[in-house]
Amino acid sequence: MEMIVLPYSLDALAPVISAETLSYHYGKHLQTYVNNLNAALPGSGFEDSLLEDIVVRSEGGIRNNAGQVLNHNLYFTQFRSPVEGNVPEGRIAALIEQEFGSFDEFRKQFEAAGASLFGSGWVWLSAQDDGHLVITKETNAGNPVQRGLRPLLTFDVWEHAYYLDYQNRRPAHLSALWQIVDWKVVESRL
Ligand code: MN
Repeated sequence: MEMIVLPYSLDALAPVISAETLSYHYGKHLQTYVNNLNAALPGSGFEDSLLEDIVVRSEGGIRNNAGQVLNHNLYFTQFRSPVEGNVPEGRIAALIEQEFGSFDEFRKQFEAAGASLFGSGWVWLSAQDDGHLVITKETNAGNPVQRGLRPLLTFDVWEHAYYLDYQNRRPAHLSALWQIVDWKVVESRL
């Protein structure tokens, strides 16, 4: 499995996510998950599998590391430089409004899910097979593909994602992240 290439520079997401956080999070944390997965793959039977299939079908250390690689790949590729008042448009905006009533209500529910997740994990917006959107919390390396969902958007609530910039203030970090969501990328995952 190869490291994804960031579609922006290390300082592009500041001040929402600093270059220092990004260099550790991408350069150290993700790199370690990729290295651990690559070390575990030989002889596992998953050498030629797609990442999503490994996450769904494997167990133990392979599943944890594959899950974290998939999660971070989706996470890092959904951002762009901060935009004040950044909101979804088009099809994804219509689906969110239809499901949650309004973007503000969706944002409130998504932030509350992330803030209330105990310990380490991820909050997700996913699509069901029937087209409905759903917010889920996944602990540790969990990914919605394990529930048969299609992941669209995720906020990482492991402390390594925000501690350098926000210390213990996870809710402040979550509410700042909306400025850097690239909704065209999110919509492309539908
Ligand atoms: Mn992370």
